[in-house]
Amino acid sequence: MTITTQDLRGMITAISATISVNISMLNTLDSQLGDGDHGTTISAGFAAAAEQIAAADSPFDVLRLTGMTLMNRMGGSSGALFGTLFVQAAMSVKEAETVSLKQFAALWQAGGDGVMKRGKAAPGDKTMVDALSPAVTALHQAAEKGETVEQALQAAAAAAEQGAKNTAEMTARYGRAQYVGERAIGHVDAGAQSVALMFSAMYNYWKGK
Ligand code: ADP
Ligand code: MG
Repeated sequence: MTITTQDLRGMITAISATISVNISMLNTLDSQLGDGDHGTTISAGFAAAAEQIAAADSPFDVLRLTGMTLMNRMGGSSGALFGTLFVQAAMSVKEAETVSLKQFAALWQAGGDGVMKRGKAAPGDKTMVDALSPAVTALHQAAEKGETVEQALQAAAAAAEQGAKNTAEMTARYGRAQYVGERAIGHVDAGAQSVALMFSAMYNYWKGK
């Protein structure tokens, strides 16, 4: 089963809807470690992206327009990072008309690698990378086992959620959270929670198809 341009548009729209009902939860998480704006900015970014992609007619266009819109609308360091995630994902699909599960795993890998290169954070540094990296691993494993897209997304959503939860045990080396030092322990990273919501939204989109 392949993932079409329409599916990708549907998944971005689903992400926007899921993030928008979690704005205050994400702001609260960010207020414990940063400046409390993460839910507001990422929600504005995805709402704008969902509008921008309405006429996008290839996987590359959906992903690239999403990334560019996040960069422009979110602003700040996280806008650059979430934007890079989708722009690098787009680079990975190139001219493909549809996306296989293997390519889907590869595009998230490319996006995650782009985020790590740009932001310098690795797994364990209490950032969005801690949710992204286990989700990518889960997608690769599902593709290798020949699972369906739905099974792959279910596994990726569970892995991202667990990865986000695990950030509560960490202190931060990057972003505003580095300044709260040991007081970061006990609090989940907002960006990691957003990534978990993204994968959960994509799974729910696929399940509801
Ligand atoms: P800002 O810190 O500019 O207010 P947001 O509040 O929107 O941006 O986003 C903060 C999130 O960005 C953090 O929770 C973290 O997941 C992510 N983040 C910050 N710095 C980095 C980095 N260097 N690498 C990866 N992710 C980062
Ligand atoms: Mg913030």
